[in-house]
Amino acid sequence: MNAPDAIFTRDTLIADHVERLDAAVIAWRRDIHANPELGNREFRTGKLVADHLRKIGIDEIHEQVAYTGVVGVLKGGKPGPCVALRADMDALPVIEETDVAFKSLAKSEWNGVPCGVMHACGHDTHVAILMGVAEILAGMRDQIAGSVKFIFQPAEEMPPIGEQGGAKLMIEEGCLENPKVDAIFGLHITSKLHTGEIGYRPGPFMASADQFRIFIRGNQTHGAQPWSGVDPIVVGAQVVLGLQTIVARKMNLTQEPSVVTVGSFQAGNRSNIIPDEAKMEGTVRAFNESHRDDIHAFIEKITTMIAESGGAKAHVHIERGYPVTINDEALTAWAVPVMKRAIGDRHVNLSVKTCGAEDFSFFQQKVPGLFFNIGCTPSDKDCKYAPSNHSPRFYVDESGLKVGVKALTTLALDWLDSNS
Ligand SMILES: [Zn+2]
Ligand SMILES: [Zn+2]
Repeated sequence: MNAPDAIFTRDTLIADHVERLDAAVIAWRRDIHANPELGNREFRTGKLVADHLRKIGIDEIHEQVAYTGVVGVLKGGKPGPCVALRADMDALPVIEETDVAFKSLAKSEWNGVPCGVMHACGHDTHVAILMGVAEILAGMRDQIAGSVKFIFQPAEEMPPIGEQGGAKLMIEEGCLENPKVDAIFGLHITSKLHTGEIGYRPGPFMASADQFRIFIRGNQTHGAQPWSGVDPIVVGAQVVLGLQTIVARKMNLTQEPSVVTVGSFQAGNRSNIIPDEAKMEGTVRAFNESHRDDIHAFIEKITTMIAESGGAKAHVHIERGYPVTINDEALTAWAVPVMKRAIGDRHVNLSVKTCGAEDFSFFQQKVPGLFFNIGCTPSDKDCKYAPSNHSPRFYVDESGLKVGVKALTTLALDWLDSNS
């Protein structure tokens, strides 16, 4: 059999396996959907995953990685490198408002506040898809040139306050070593695409997300005699406007877009008292790591100097969140024809950038990675009006799950072939 014939035969085999497993993948997804767990609390989900990996004969299974994560290693029948596939497992503190039969009724607590729990970001589908991929690949072991690492990750939506977690902690605990991972693929389901569609983008795909807090220290006085003190509200208002000049006047918009938003401003409690202090919080989004650093420096400088000019003191605290999700250009160029072969040419399309952030970016800082979207909005609905990820009405058309199973399975096998 020549090489194209072999690929064709294998594609047919994968397609058969995907069809055969489809009902199981949907059943797993419904079970996980009905039993969602918040970040760093994915005990049941982690056990479900580990039990499944044991059942299908995955060679190595590491549990409780970064608290509740699971890492499985499947050793192929032929020598070669190691490719990783990642699924995140956590749900969100959201009360579900869909009317599906397996709707979540779960309740929990998030940072000490009682809440509902829902897989409103669709991570239930990511887990079920990767469980399906693992089962198919375990059955094709002889054809695998190298090894496949399955990374089931907790707390993508951030761990609770005061805890570590997510991709960063999994990496610190060695999930990319032994065997050393050479490339990584991950996907996210989205209501912004129709069922059956894949969206990808080379280079910067999703933004970095950092939070800042600013304290302006003035000098309390009576509202009727402002000259006797320093008004932190007026200084703070100037700071809000000053921060808006960063994107408008300082950043080179021909390179990458960015966002600086002040989302909270608190000061004072009465009409005629000028308070001592004003506090604000905001978020920074960028698509380039050096822009990200530049914006941080501008926030610090603008805030401090405006405060000084008003006779106040400012304290700026910037908390770095997730890095820019940057898809490796060469890996993406290689993967697009593979995904087109698996899913069909017209179903694999270039996506726009999104200002949301993903901690898959931490993996991509260590190894070449590709993160892509799969659609879940029924084809007769307009994606524009479909409730977005994180909405209590987020809805998944499950007929799209097989696209994820097929894409990840084909990418893993092909990548190992091409690099062994
Ligand atoms: Zn999310
Ligand atoms: Zn998500």
